[in-house]
Amino acid sequence: MSDIQRWVRPEVLKLSAYHVPESVGMVKLDAMENPYLLPSELQAKVGQLAAEAWLNRYPDPHAKALKQRLRTVFEIPANQDLILGNGSDELIQLLALTLAKPGAMLLGVEPSFVMYRMVAQSVGMQYLGIPLQESDFSLDLPALLAAITTHQPALIFLAYPNNPTGNAFTRADIEQILAVSEGLVVIDEAYHAFAQDSFLPQLAEYPNLLVMRTVSKLGLAGLRLGFLAGNPAWLHEIDKLRLPYNINVLTQAVAEFVLSHHEILDQQAAQLRHERTKLFDTLQDMAHVVAYPSDANFILLRVPQADLVHQRLLQQQILVKNLHHAHPLLHDCLRVTVSTPEENAQFIHALQKSLLGKS
Ligand SMILES: *Cc1c(COP(=O)(O)O)cnc(C)c1O
Repeated sequence: MSDIQRWVRPEVLKLSAYHVPESVGMVKLDAMENPYLLPSELQAKVGQLAAEAWLNRYPDPHAKALKQRLRTVFEIPANQDLILGNGSDELIQLLALTLAKPGAMLLGVEPSFVMYRMVAQSVGMQYLGIPLQESDFSLDLPALLAAITTHQPALIFLAYPNNPTGNAFTRADIEQILAVSEGLVVIDEAYHAFAQDSFLPQLAEYPNLLVMRTVSKLGLAGLRLGFLAGNPAWLHEIDKLRLPYNINVLTQAVAEFVLSHHEILDQQAAQLRHERTKLFDTLQDMAHVVAYPSDANFILLRVPQADLVHQRLLQQQILVKNLHHAHPLLHDCLRVTVSTPEENAQFIHALQKSLLGKS
């Protein structure tokens, strides 16, 4: 046993780091980023804000101005609290750290956002992933309810809509899960801008429900900002583990400003929803391609020989996510971000060539 293996926690030795592929020079359709920039007047104001920011001072530890802006823009119910994270990834980690008693379980569905499982493993929680239904990636409600009753998970994550499948689970199914769960249930609404349905109004009904959002998929992935909304008593405990200055000065100033012009981001999201419909229709009409309906800003598709198609797309400078090895239900699946009309057309053209084997 090397020195390193002797000292590093066994659950860390077992992890593999989150892999981000090289994307320089590529049409980047692998990470659900918004392809649109801010209009130049707003960009100029962002530059001015950055120039005037007090970089010599620590940020406001409670990010009061930004929180107030988030409350207004996202219509957070007044009696619910808010915690901000350096991306919602940080919030997933905070939740797990708060609930990781010895033997405590984190329950998710499979396939879903990989960070739930990674974070569970990193803090030593047990992880259980209940497979989605093969036909349409809907929840296997009987299996989920049985697992909840048997294992009493401390923490349940449901992405609504789900990544990487793109579908939103039915509200009735989620409400049944909420009704039987005694631990914390987090609805991850990372794709809210593209689905436009939310459990924020249900926070008052379920004291153990938290709703998580991020500005990443909305067009501000570089700022790293997510939030958790819900019961003040739960958030009070979670907030004790948040490092004091987790939202930096520039993120606070720029997010507060850009969200005061959120109609720009809303228009971009509306444009992307429109492009999603066009891209889906095109994919559905292609021979050898199965496209799955999406409520998010990406589309899951199944092709013959996904590894080969992925490779051929890369050769044409098109970067999409290859999910073939991610989960048995994702056999031969790729995930593509919905982008501008130009980039979507480039993707379709490259995909056609890849399927025909002419690349
Ligand atoms: C992208 C994504 C996130 C991560 O969001 P960040 O705020 O960028 O960390 C969280 N949940 C789901 C389901 C996602 O797809």
